[in-house]
Amino acid sequence: MEDCIFCRIVRGEIPCFKVYEDERVLAFEDINPISDGHTLVIPKAHAESLWEISEDDLAAVHVASKKIGQAISEALAATGVACLQLNGRGANQVVMHYHLHLIPRISGAPPLPVSNWELKAGDMARIKSVAEKITAAMR
Ligand SMILES: [Zn+2]
Repeated sequence: MEDCIFCRIVRGEIPCFKVYEDERVLAFEDINPISDGHTLVIPKAHAESLWEISEDDLAAVHVASKKIGQAISEALAATGVACLQLNGRGANQVVMHYHLHLIPRISGAPPLPVSNWELKAGDMARIKSVAEKITAAMR
């Protein structure tokens, strides 16, 4: 897409700190990192979300993220790597080009809010009813 910032990075019109590239995938450092090594893995072909990305590109991004995540983990002695993927503005997706965040967790770093929620038992009837709604919408 013409004015998509990630498409412009793919075309080389905007520089990036590239850590990985193959035929379908590009990975580079997030310039607003949550932590050192916060990396974005994207398909080179524009797709806005999980619902739009081709299955081949989706597989390529996630297969590449395995290799990239291992390198991040080793390079930074991470205690874990969070893989975070957001779809839609309501989920705080900012750049509307599919991307997977790889966020290394380093010993002593502040907690990652999205992976640090309080565990509270849910209402089983409500959970069942929501599961039925989702199942009915499945194509
Ligand atoms: Zn794009």
